[in-house]
Amino acid sequence: MESKLFILRRGMNAFQDGPGNRFVVHMQGCNLRCPWCANPESIPLQGVQMATTPPKWSCTEIGVAALVEECVQAKPLLFGGGGITFTGGEPTMQFEALRAALLLCRARGIHTCIESNAAHPHLPELFPLIDFLILDCKHYDSEAHRRWTGQGNESITENLRAAGRQREQLLLRIPVVGGVNATVADAAAFRKHFAALGLAHCPVEPLRYHAYGKPKWRQCGMEYTMQGADLTDAGWAAFCAALDG
Ligand code: SF4
Repeated sequence: MESKLFILRRGMNAFQDGPGNRFVVHMQGCNLRCPWCANPESIPLQGVQMATTPPKWSCTEIGVAALVEECVQAKPLLFGGGGITFTGGEPTMQFEALRAALLLCRARGIHTCIESNAAHPHLPELFPLIDFLILDCKHYDSEAHRRWTGQGNESITENLRAAGRQREQLLLRIPVVGGVNATVADAAAFRKHFAALGLAHCPVEPLRYHAYGKPKWRQCGMEYTMQGADLTDAGWAAFCAALDG
């Protein structure tokens, strides 16, 4: 039976989700529950009815072969070392369909990237199919990670360690959220955490908190609970400087 993917949307995006101009596929479903999430409609694996005008369902279903064919047709646009990026939500929530899509991309000569929260325990099985890997780390402390996302960071830590051992094309991302992980001491702790995992050489991209996704929480029938999470410009600069060491 043909593999199918549930996706929020797909489209071109340059130099943000991997190298070059890319065909970016946002996949439905996430295993974490970050209260700052900018795409809350991506969280339920089964999708969600959004209270827009007119109301709309968050995701659509597409066959893996059809999706990859769209990317093949877009090949002339994949300049600058571009290719396909699977992001979310969390792409590994549809693990076998994602594996099938990556395999097919490989067979069709498409450069592959995934952006993942790194929480799926079998994530390293996909490493041989991924050319460029973007992994999030939301907190270095497992209890804080559990408090803010609903899960401890143990599997994430193991996957980051495995990525450091097996990968060269690796980018780490930290969503920097006031009151969660945004102090200078937090930045130093992230550096220490990454060094302990053999990732001191890896580029790290901090992402500044924003509340752009707030209206979508209401449209999804969920309460947006983040408060006081904005960073001042000075606080953001201090975090970034401390992260750089
Ligand atoms: S991991 Fe990403 S998609 Fe999932 S809840 Fe957190 S911010 Fe949202």
